[in-house]
Amino acid sequence: MYKRPKGTMDILPETVTKWQTLEQLLRTICSAYDVKEMRTPIFEHTELFTRGVGNTTDIVGKEMYTFNDKKGRSITLRPEGTVGFARSLVENKLYTNPDGINKFYYMGPMFRYERPQSGRFRQFHQFGVEMLGFASPYIDVECMVMAVTVVEALGIKDVTLHINSLGDFDSRIAYREALKNHFSSSLEELCSDCKARFESNPLRILDCKVDCDHPAMESAPKTVDYLTPEAKEYFESVCALLDMLEIAYVVDQNLVRGLDYYNHTVFEVISDDPSFGAQATLGGGGHYNGLVEEVGGPCSPGVGFAFGLERLLMAMDESQVEEDHLDIYVMPMGEEAKQLGLQIVTMLRANGYRVDMDYQNRSLKSQFKTVERKQAHFAMIIGEQEIEDEVVNIKCTHSKTQDRVPLESILDYIEKHEKGVHHE
Ligand code: AMP
Repeated sequence: MYKRPKGTMDILPETVTKWQTLEQLLRTICSAYDVKEMRTPIFEHTELFTRGVGNTTDIVGKEMYTFNDKKGRSITLRPEGTVGFARSLVENKLYTNPDGINKFYYMGPMFRYERPQSGRFRQFHQFGVEMLGFASPYIDVECMVMAVTVVEALGIKDVTLHINSLGDFDSRIAYREALKNHFSSSLEELCSDCKARFESNPLRILDCKVDCDHPAMESAPKTVDYLTPEAKEYFESVCALLDMLEIAYVVDQNLVRGLDYYNHTVFEVISDDPSFGAQATLGGGGHYNGLVEEVGGPCSPGVGFAFGLERLLMAMDESQVEEDHLDIYVMPMGEEAKQLGLQIVTMLRANGYRVDMDYQNRSLKSQFKTVERKQAHFAMIIGEQEIEDEVVNIKCTHSKTQDRVPLESILDYIEKHEKGVHHE
């Protein structure tokens, strides 16, 4: 017996409806923001991630699914979506867009070799949005409003928008020095990863999952105290715009985010529902400069976010999910009836109805059980007498009425009575 690899899951038909509802809602929101879909490969050259995401991040350092293909090229299953998106933007020269800004979204599987637990998988799905080409607090705020719209549209309650600023390049240099001074006295007590991060990228120490409770974390310098006047002004504008729109948020000075490419605004949408435990971040993102240049393009600042679909599904209000029913179940009695049935189901499906039929000559009783299980609105019985009279017998499972309907009137009949079912 084969088992699925650890950290993956089969999305079975009974939960697929919920996924589809979520995906549809997300697509509708993107349409309202005029954000277009982009689909990039699931695997890319490894170097793209080491350069784009950053060598010192956990994602690149520890979590990538990397292998050599038959020609010895190093390939990685994408651990996130932004870098592949940036590569595609450059490769397809989309940055030459005369409107000055590109707004895209992606939705699909990502792969990270992490320790699986509730809300954390090795293959998981992200919905992400990227807005590129122009740096402005307005764009950052548009992105955050969109993220908030997503959770609201899904009926998710008890969430908080956390925001912070990592500042510009100069702010980060000053902050990096302050962090090194701060952690130098406690470095020996920190994990081996943090010791390496101390040299390569001290900001990542704040993101450590091992040392997160160490007292030096709490007392660490805060980014806001090291912002240059320009970066400070940028962040103040972001907060003022959020205030204007009456979007609730908290400034979370410990928020640094796991990827290297962020600067200025970073944000996370965090669930306050205790059942999420350590996996309470539904989504997050931020502003980035330099990423597009890093993958070979022109200077093109951007802002984006990604939500984990599994976590959105865990938090989503179930009442949004439409019941999954069949319109008509066709029940032929005998070979001749099966042929007529096949013609009828083909015609009904071509007219947009959701239809299924029995080909197994099962008893009427078992077929009616199927009608129940599939919550069919109509059961259509075709027996010998019906064939002779050129009619079918249609039973409405809601009103319990039953009618003999001439073959040429089937469509009219269903159309008329289907309305009745929906209005009940
Ligand atoms: P990140 O790309 O790390 O900022 O993650 C963005 C969002 O993706 C997180 O807030 C989670 O909702 C989701 N996510 C990240 N890693 C995982 C994972 N291993 N399993 C499930 N969801 C994840």
